[in-house]
Amino acid sequence: MMNAEIIGVGSELLLGQIANTNAQYLSKKLAELGINVYYHTVVGDNAQRLKEVIATAQTRAELIIFTGGLGPTKDDLTKETIASVLGVELTTNAEALESIEAYFKQSNRVMTPNNKKQAIVLEGSAVLPNDYGMAPGMGLTVEGKHYMLFPGPPKELYPMYESYGQEFLAQKLELKESIESRVLRFFGIGESQLETEIEDLLDAQTNPTIAPLAGDGEVTLRLTAKHANAAEAQRMLDEVEKTISERVGEYLYGYEATSLHNELVKELTAQGLTIASAESLTGGLFSERLTTVSGAGEAVKGSLVAYHYEIKQNILGVSEHTLNQYGAVSEQCAAEMAQRIQQLYKTDIGIGFTGVAGPSKQEGHPVGTVYIGVAYKDQAPQVYSLQLSGSRQGICSRTVNYGCHYVLK
Ligand code: ATP
Ligand code: MG
Repeated sequence: MMNAEIIGVGSELLLGQIANTNAQYLSKKLAELGINVYYHTVVGDNAQRLKEVIATAQTRAELIIFTGGLGPTKDDLTKETIASVLGVELTTNAEALESIEAYFKQSNRVMTPNNKKQAIVLEGSAVLPNDYGMAPGMGLTVEGKHYMLFPGPPKELYPMYESYGQEFLAQKLELKESIESRVLRFFGIGESQLETEIEDLLDAQTNPTIAPLAGDGEVTLRLTAKHANAAEAQRMLDEVEKTISERVGEYLYGYEATSLHNELVKELTAQGLTIASAESLTGGLFSERLTTVSGAGEAVKGSLVAYHYEIKQNILGVSEHTLNQYGAVSEQCAAEMAQRIQQLYKTDIGIGFTGVAGPSKQEGHPVGTVYIGVAYKDQAPQVYSLQLSGSRQGICSRTVNYGCHYVLK
């Protein structure tokens, strides 16, 4: 399998002014093609050091991708340096020049001579048009090694890669294999626990590969299968997914770029159920998340932010007894909040959130104490208690995720 190195050119990267998101983006894209990225290198706008970096990359990568330094200014020296290292001539590309001239005409600006420089390309290269800027990208093969050059600005690079770069790569690499991937999303299980449950699969993986990723209380597994036949690759994915589901299926809530609130709205809508929330700790965040999902209106009836005691008692109708006896941060209060909002808003499901987001203790409860009440139809409300850690925002955000998770259960 092909291996690659991504070289970011630009002193601003070394000065810490910008993060190397181009390398991050390209790495993800190359992974989709089954190309291994072994190195990310960053070098300033300096011809000598760039030469050294290219020489090193040539010893260890078959595909070398450059980003940045294709512009019109003096410090943009990527093309010139690569030309000299590879012994390739530079030549003006007629189409690129035309599109630069058109760009200036259209924007009513005067073209300065250094802008012509942007139409100069490495001789023999495939020119990758820039639909969002002036400097075209390039792809070329010299002595069996592939080189690609992209402009620095992400808003130029991303569409260039998608529209022209990927195709260039697929052709060069004669990628005849189909690569199919699938993302499984889990919630309610920690990364280490999940990995322990499927340790043998992770150890033995080759094709399909299984790549875990954790973030914001959830864990995802990206499964990638390669096969000459796309349908067969999909079947291979089905098979690993089945094995994984047999072990941790109860935590699997969705696929690809979905989210818990998205799945919740989908599920409620599919089942024709309605929901309302009484939110103390979360201050409306649950409702906000749900209503970002288009078509939420069928399932989501509304929300009441009941932050103060008096709102909990007088508007929501939590009993004085509960508030005096157990406090607002209590199982009893969460249960009543869920039940009261369900009654008030006449929904199938009521959910109540109460707890301590911090920064300090409340009613003697430590930061991160959370109670979530869920009332479903005429069943007795269920209360889930959690002890979360993190910032105020993080606690609220994860509380909402847990809320979605419990209702989905
Ligand atoms: P331009 O024609 O805009 O000068 P260029 O190809 O010469 O483009 P650079 O001058 O190196 O590219 O960078 C232009 C801008 O692109 C930088 O100021 C930065 O905002 C962004 N950029 C460059 N390299 C990266 C990178 N590796 N990751 C993210 N952004 C980058
Ligand atoms: Mg530049």
